[in-house]
Amino acid sequence: MKRYIIAGNWKMNMTKEDVVNFFNNIGELPDNITKIICPVFPLIPFVMEKSADQIQIGAQNVSEHDKGAFTGEVSASILKSIDVNYCIIGHSERRQYFNETDNLIKRKWMQLRSEIINPIICIGETLEERESGETFNVIKKQIVSIFEGVALEPGEDLMIAYEPVWAIGTGKTATPEMAQEVHAFIRKLLKDFYKEEANDIPILYGGSVKSSNIKDLLNQKDINGALVGGSSLDPIEFSKIINYAGELL
Ligand code: PEP
Repeated sequence: MKRYIIAGNWKMNMTKEDVVNFFNNIGELPDNITKIICPVFPLIPFVMEKSADQIQIGAQNVSEHDKGAFTGEVSASILKSIDVNYCIIGHSERRQYFNETDNLIKRKWMQLRSEIINPIICIGETLEERESGETFNVIKKQIVSIFEGVALEPGEDLMIAYEPVWAIGTGKTATPEMAQEVHAFIRKLLKDFYKEEANDIPILYGGSVKSSNIKDLLNQKDINGALVGGSSLDPIEFSKIINYAGELL
């Protein structure tokens, strides 16, 4: 049976006051899907308290180092010590503004793995790459660089988020068919490494997901959920997305 995951990436948004308002308005959520919110680091414990296990809380980034003199960084062991179980790595904004590479993302994944924190690994092509017909080459390079030589770890809830960079925060969504085409390609690449086990790796779509497009996206065979940016800041919209996903199962 298909499994659905809806993860919200709050980015550098949401004050403590906004969080209170968010949970006052989120309403009833279904139990049949995995729900995750990734707030800024300092508010993780507060969001956990407010969520009261209704939604799992993840981080947006982690250090490639395990400890020490790395001012401003947060390690996987520190995240684990406050019960964080999920972490986004390789988001396109980290790649674009902080020069993160696939090799760095792989090292961050290994840090998370050492603390049994589940990664949400982001990949995706830029507009320039799509328009020059490079989408599949870019995706292949990202998948191979990150996954080559890494065996699956039993119990790890590893997820991939395919986020075409041109669809993030722009209001432009890939059509469900365009997204499915890339998701199927990612699945095929994962099968080269992991054979049939690749069928169990959730591949989320990200890029201007809203309540009005979530159902069509999730109805595609290889789309197992969504990584939601802007729409996850609005509790009513985010709740609709989660509830619509729950209705499809
Ligand atoms: C994201 O930042 O991961 C994202 C998909 O953003 P948005 O939904 O706003 O496009």
